[in-house]
Amino acid sequence: MLAQVIVDVPSQNTDQAFSYHVPEMYENLMQVGLRVTVPFGKGGRLVQGFVVGLGADSTLLTADLPALKDLASLMDAEPVLNEEMLALSREMQKTTYAFWITCLQTMLPNVLKADYEKFFVAGDTLTASEATLFADAQELPFAEAEAKGLLSQLALLKKAGKVTIGYRVLSRDQVKTQRYFSNNLTPDALQKTFQAQRKNALKRQQFLNYLQTLTESLPVSAAYALGFDATFLRQVEQLGWISFEEREVYRDPFKAHQFAQSQPLALTAEQQAAYTAINESREQKQAATFLLEGVTGSGKTEVYLQVIQTALEKQQTALMLVPEIALTPQMVKRFKERFGTGVAVLHSALSSGERYDEWRKIQRKEATVVVGARSAIFAPLENLGVIIIDEEHETTYKQGENPRYHARDLALWRSRYHGCPLVLGSATPSLESRARAQKGVYHLLRLTKRPTAQSLPQVEVVDLREEFQQGNTSTFSSVLQRKITERLEKRQQTVLLLNRRGYSAFVLCRECGEVLQCPNCDISLTMHLDIKKMKCHYCGHEEGIPRECPHCHSKQMRYYGTGTQKVEEELQQLFPSARILRMDVDTTRKKGAHEKILAAFEAQEADILLGTQMIAKGLDYPNVTLVGVLNADTALNLPDFRSSEHTFQLLTQVAGRAGRGSEKGEVIIQTFNPDHYAIQLAQQQNYEAFYQKEMGIRRLSGYPPYYFTVQLTASHQEEKVACQTIFQFYRLLKEKLSPQAIFIGPSPKAILRINNQYYYQVLIKYKHEEQLAQLLHFIQEQTVTPQYRAVKIAIDVEPLQFI
Ligand code: ADP
Ligand code: ZN
Ligand code: ZN
Repeated sequence: MLAQVIVDVPSQNTDQAFSYHVPEMYENLMQVGLRVTVPFGKGGRLVQGFVVGLGADSTLLTADLPALKDLASLMDAEPVLNEEMLALSREMQKTTYAFWITCLQTMLPNVLKADYEKFFVAGDTLTASEATLFADAQELPFAEAEAKGLLSQLALLKKAGKVTIGYRVLSRDQVKTQRYFSNNLTPDALQKTFQAQRKNALKRQQFLNYLQTLTESLPVSAAYALGFDATFLRQVEQLGWISFEEREVYRDPFKAHQFAQSQPLALTAEQQAAYTAINESREQKQAATFLLEGVTGSGKTEVYLQVIQTALEKQQTALMLVPEIALTPQMVKRFKERFGTGVAVLHSALSSGERYDEWRKIQRKEATVVVGARSAIFAPLENLGVIIIDEEHETTYKQGENPRYHARDLALWRSRYHGCPLVLGSATPSLESRARAQKGVYHLLRLTKRPTAQSLPQVEVVDLREEFQQGNTSTFSSVLQRKITERLEKRQQTVLLLNRRGYSAFVLCRECGEVLQCPNCDISLTMHLDIKKMKCHYCGHEEGIPRECPHCHSKQMRYYGTGTQKVEEELQQLFPSARILRMDVDTTRKKGAHEKILAAFEAQEADILLGTQMIAKGLDYPNVTLVGVLNADTALNLPDFRSSEHTFQLLTQVAGRAGRGSEKGEVIIQTFNPDHYAIQLAQQQNYEAFYQKEMGIRRLSGYPPYYFTVQLTASHQEEKVACQTIFQFYRLLKEKLSPQAIFIGPSPKAILRINNQYYYQVLIKYKHEEQLAQLLHFIQEQTVTPQYRAVKIAIDVEPLQFI
């Protein structure tokens, strides 16, 4: 038997599979999708690889047969990637210009990147002689079976369904257990024990009464809740009344919540129309894509929930992507309330143990709904009935490093594979998606109203230039101050957004004008008051806050900028009695911190929530009646053709947080550019008008969605090498592509140097270029040749990041 293996050797062009001979003991276990170790290269160094093909036929690759080496070992006993995922990895390799091995590794369930142990588990149907393989135990470690030469036999039993494979993560928090207790006393014994108690042994009498009511084992916490503490339980265990048992529990990061079962709401006419269209396509197994464009609070989530529910009733599964789980605890809550334990939640902040639990739930088909961030697109759900991408315009769906995939593109592929609908939901769709809906490539579904009687909030724009002229240099305009005061008096809540993009708090010398710079990057350091450090946001460099100028040694240092912390201090001075919560990178570093802050705000333990972009998403708190945007335009002037789009999206999203309850909401947008169309149309919350306007601009300037784009970046520690490399590839493309292709650059990046690497880039805009894919694959292959090995070359298809 031969196996075709993709090996993990980054310094080679290894997109082609290598053939290995499969030792006989592994034959029965071999499957496509397994990881193996194989000898590679002249020295026969052992490397990891993925089995992507199997052939019994030795004529398969007769050419290199004499040199054929043996596969060294199996890393898995069962495939870690199924047929669909293998096919998807191929697609990803083709469309992102990453190496195949990189794509395969990206798709691997995170849990399998950790150390884990595999073992065979004896089933009930084993005959007595078969059971001897297990030597009286329930489990037999894989390594032991291999050493004893039992692999072949066990593999056959596995094929017959008599033996299964188990996994255990080898980390300190392995399997989590919870202590349960159960009643040991028969009704008779209970009666007698009760009568034998002394009159004043009240607690024991109470406990016996309680035991009498028990029909099953309960977690000890249930007894604690009734006042029977651990010491007491140990006493009665010693008396033989109860016994303890440790049970394995899934670690549920959302366990702290109580999830009440929620029921489907009666849909509005618009919601019903959307539901029907999506559901019909699901029934007919059509891979249609729907753009669900609904104003904030229009009930998009309720549509998702009901479509999913119908899919589950038909024994199908569902995949729901959200931009970032930590920021959307309410979304998870709504899914758990509706679908209970059938929901698996995947995101990067889970511990490896938690991830393992969630992954196992999917693998065992206990979870039929997966909610997760970008990488959840690789959840190995079978029989998908619907895929949903909420807030589809968010840039977090695009991976910033190799493979630079966009979850939306992979979702389209999976939707075709399963013949199921894909729903893209947003109040402010990306221009690309909205344009596709315009052309009829996607089906446009619109929700124009909120289902509750609530109208959209009233938005007022405040011109900060005027405020300055009137002598108000505070971060808070007089209007905003007045509105906050009103809310404090009425005991209503306020959300304040400090736009972090393009903003920084820096240190400047008043004598010589020196701004403290990162030694590794061409960017100024940002001041962090909480850790009393200057920090570089690009390379992570840290140093103390200087008291004197490193350049001229003057002590006249000035600390500029409005970090969230400084704004918080200013806010507290203006409103001494206000209870303020701050949410930014500094206050949310600890695991679960987002959730805690949001929960406190929801419980109305604070009057004001002050935060960066992270507060703009998904919050739905009825008592919030005022939203203030402190600096609407800091992102408008960034060198990115999407800066208006991002500004419009952010303002619309954050405005949608106001007035979700019975009281009408108000929004104040503070800006230096009150006449800018992105700000004016956000004020009107008029997405359609923004779409028209922005499309006109994109057409004139020749940007997406009118053109496709690819960005090439070269970086090296020597500026000259980076620059030369980008020019070489630029000349190659210029020569081979049609005259219609437009090049922006080559040029240095907006920040030339990051972490001592110099960056040069070129952007290609095009409509049809038959040759482009081939050329890009060629360039990708060059990256591993000796000439270019030291240069980092990035190919970014439809780039979202320009800085
Ligand atoms: P979106 O996802 O579009 O922002 P949501 O689904 O969060 O909107 O809905 C906003 C609010 O409206 C929620 O509190 C939700 O419970 C409520 N809601 C949604 N659909 C209905 C309906 N058909 N009838 C009554 N209330 C609804
Ligand atoms: Zn100085
Ligand atoms: Zn730096």
